[in-house]
Amino acid sequence: MNGTECSKCRQWYLKNNDKYCGYCGSSLISVDIEPSGEIILISQIAPRKKVKFNNTGNADAHIRLECIGTATDLIRFSPDDFTVRAGMQDEIDIILDEDKLPDDFTEQEFIFRCIVNNENPKDKNLSVKVKTGPKPVLLTEEIDFGEIKKGDIPAKRTLELGNKGATPLTLKDVRAAGGNHLQVEKDFKFPIKISANKGIKIQVLWDSNLYNSETGSEQAGFHIIYGNYDKPDFISAKGKALTFDVTQDDIQKNILELLFDLKGTSGGLAGNVRAKIGEWESEPKKLCFPASMNQLFETP
Ligand SMILES: [Zn+2]
Repeated sequence: MNGTECSKCRQWYLKNNDKYCGYCGSSLISVDIEPSGEIILISQIAPRKKVKFNNTGNADAHIRLECIGTATDLIRFSPDDFTVRAGMQDEIDIILDEDKLPDDFTEQEFIFRCIVNNENPKDKNLSVKVKTGPKPVLLTEEIDFGEIKKGDIPAKRTLELGNKGATPLTLKDVRAAGGNHLQVEKDFKFPIKISANKGIKIQVLWDSNLYNSETGSEQAGFHIIYGNYDKPDFISAKGKALTFDVTQDDIQKNILELLFDLKGTSGGLAGNVRAKIGEWESEPKKLCFPASMNQLFETP
């Protein structure tokens, strides 16, 4: 006798090109896919999953998967073409090619037809849903605290960011950099979850009393660190500290000008004086030289 015995009834010898047992009628091609439900691939979080093919038939099954509708280059199978021996099982990888996801992509379902020995068994479709993982978007580009005088209450600004992905984004921390004067609101509790298509607002502060022009650097701003997104973000922060403490550095970099606005009267000389360095100008200070002091300015 040629061929293999039918494993269902053991009453028939099957030839290689038979599709059904001539005695019991059972199908020679029988493949089960595990998991049976939808497979979900998520960029960043789960871009790769395994799928098992059980060959419960009597013949070797050559399998390939074919996308129904427009072909997609977002999903690939490794290997994409394989043979599962009769009674055996094989596992393959379904891989999402994250680099090919369009910027505005959120989620989409793809159905693949399972082709076994060039036939498509009924109900043997593989459904794969692709979702974008967390996708942070900075809604604040730069923080400008404006002019802050020493002694003022801390200047507050709002830092805003959103999640354009289809899955929640975990915000792990927001850290100030570039000097102690930059701070994140103290009551804010990290980590925090930002739902899909939602945003968050965080108050950031500039405390002029902690400003030090020697430690304040060009790289001042806020580092944004995520729990489930690899690339941290940075929002730069600027402000102008108004202070009467003129440092050596200020004088070397800029010209210090003193602007006098004095009027002479019989009582002496009185008016205002203002200091000016670059674009910064101090509040006017009153200055007064009583008449009796005139002799101090006379040169011998
Ligand atoms: Zn049979």
